[in-house]
Amino acid sequence: MIPFLDLKAVNQAHRADLVAAFERVLDSGWYIMGNELTRFEAEYADYCGARECVGVANGLDALTLSLRALGVGPGDEVIVPSNTYIATWLAVSHVGATPVPVEPDDRTANVDPARLEAALTPRTRVIMPVHLYGQPVELAPLLAFARKHGLKVVEDGAQAHGARYKGERLGAHGDIVTWSFYPGKNLGALGDGGAITTNDAALAASIRELRNYGSKAKYHNDVIGYNSRLDELQAALLRAKLPALDAENRQRSLIAERYLQALAGTSLQLPEVHPDCESAWHLFVVRHPQRDALARLLAERGIGTVIHYPIAPHLQPAYAPLGIAAGTLPISERLHREVISLPISPVMSLQQADEVAAGVRAALESLAGA
Ligand SMILES: *Cc1c(COP(=O)(O)O)cnc(C)c1O
Repeated sequence: MIPFLDLKAVNQAHRADLVAAFERVLDSGWYIMGNELTRFEAEYADYCGARECVGVANGLDALTLSLRALGVGPGDEVIVPSNTYIATWLAVSHVGATPVPVEPDDRTANVDPARLEAALTPRTRVIMPVHLYGQPVELAPLLAFARKHGLKVVEDGAQAHGARYKGERLGAHGDIVTWSFYPGKNLGALGDGGAITTNDAALAASIRELRNYGSKAKYHNDVIGYNSRLDELQAALLRAKLPALDAENRQRSLIAERYLQALAGTSLQLPEVHPDCESAWHLFVVRHPQRDALARLLAERGIGTVIHYPIAPHLQPAYAPLGIAAGTLPISERLHREVISLPISPVMSLQQADEVAAGVRAALESLAGA
């Protein structure tokens, strides 16, 4: 039995540090907006090579508050990937703007910079690339396009903690980078959490205000804000786990290398990493035309898999009002039919990766023979 992700084991590896962090917060008597948050923000900003970090309640709020801070609202358009977790689209909708999908590069599943031009209108304000599965988007052409057309860039880094583009960690390439610390992410809390990083002090200040009721000083409210704070307990738990993030990402990358070698030459389409990018390997996503049958065969062998994601955002009932018909975004739609994620995590051994690869090879042979 190899589960898709053994989250309990992931956190047990940090047990002593997590318990110490909990006791520190318990004994401090201070649970919201305190020392732990301030210190986590400094440590995570430093890790990302960004000047500012602002903790918020979750990754969706990080995206929503970023758009609010940039003044995006009704009548505005935001360019989003056609294949992403739906949170990216939801943030655009929550500020009253319209998501405009752009198709991915079929090899990396990340937004294709060559397709941005066709999505541009006089209403476009922001581009929101998503570093999907942990692999950085090709940022240079995207940032150049944004600069040329006066657009802001909000990167969704929820799956890519620690990933690098041209040797530099994600965190301050675009105007704002958003992060989620949902338990299953590469840097995961024991509950919900999120943050933004940026080099722009004014944007950081605006998000600080928005996350706390639109208030800079207690009981003085300048803008219509939110309650979206990263609490002291989650901040302390994240501080306990951050020092191990690079080592954990290295184990993910060793597993990915193992899979790439062991599964080369099969009927699977394997993930391709752009030469400028170093993936955080949040997910190891392969593609196969008989994806559902493959998932069933692997389940029979005790190998856990998950589909990231089964339905494209534009085909979700929530987005029926946009009226984007099935067939309009064929690259994304095919991805959603073919993708399947194999187990990958910092607590998986290379021997387990070999077992998974052997199981996948056997399953593919029985599919071919059927
Ligand atoms: C997880 C995720 C989010 C949302 O994060 P939450 O903390 O669950 O709100 C946003 N975008 C992407 C790409 C994600 O994977």
